[in-house]
Amino acid sequence: MMRRKIVAGNWKMNKTPSEAVELINTLKPLVANDDVDVVFCVPAIDITVAVEAAKGSNIAIGAENMYYEESGAYTGEIAPAMLVDAGVKYVIIGHSERREYFAETDETVNKKVLKAIEHGIVPIICCGETLTQREQGVTIDFVRQQIKIALQGVTADQAKEVVIAYEPIWAIGTGVVATTEQAQEVCVAIRACIAEVYDEATAEAIRIQYGGSVSAASAPELFAQADIDGGLVGGASLKPDFGAIVNYNK
Ligand code: PEP
Repeated sequence: MMRRKIVAGNWKMNKTPSEAVELINTLKPLVANDDVDVVFCVPAIDITVAVEAAKGSNIAIGAENMYYEESGAYTGEIAPAMLVDAGVKYVIIGHSERREYFAETDETVNKKVLKAIEHGIVPIICCGETLTQREQGVTIDFVRQQIKIALQGVTADQAKEVVIAYEPIWAIGTGVVATTEQAQEVCVAIRACIAEVYDEATAEAIRIQYGGSVSAASAPELFAQADIDGGLVGGASLKPDFGAIVNYNK
């Protein structure tokens, strides 16, 4: 089965609403590629204008986070229904920066994944080890645990639609990209884990991205790996380079 590639930008805490419109207008012609699903995950306050600016293009808008309750006394949080109403199709869940600075755990990640699915938003579930864990030889054990907990209560049919982003923490924002062998090895292990939890058909359907200092130079080789179905891109998603990353196959 041929899985469709998916390349998502993670803007993190960058771009005001007016800057967001400008960036989308600049990137729109550069990210046209019928072979790839293209997602811009933007700060919450940029979502409405980003959806408007992306209309008529192949760009889907995603959020960088959401809460797992429907509504209520959760000052500062964004509910899934708000994202849906604003036109959001994807949401990054459990990015390592949220785990590190905002106390997200595998358990909150799981709650958010279930809520996103319930509302028809595709979760991009982030996992990945620290440099210490890699040096200790526990990378695959750690990532398997993250994935198994993130998917508690998710059915096989639902799991087929989710996106997993394997992002080694030591490669995020550091300019140190994982080697293609390192990235492929862990993506294979994640797929094997999905096959164990569910079945082969689910493992074959699920899309697994690599993330961590992806650039126009590294994308073609990474995305050509059998188990790497695209990328989650931070820094380079704010630049015209993102067009070259999306068009890695041209
Ligand atoms: C990310 O934030 O998900 C990421 C991969 O960042 P960068 O591409 O800048 O390493």
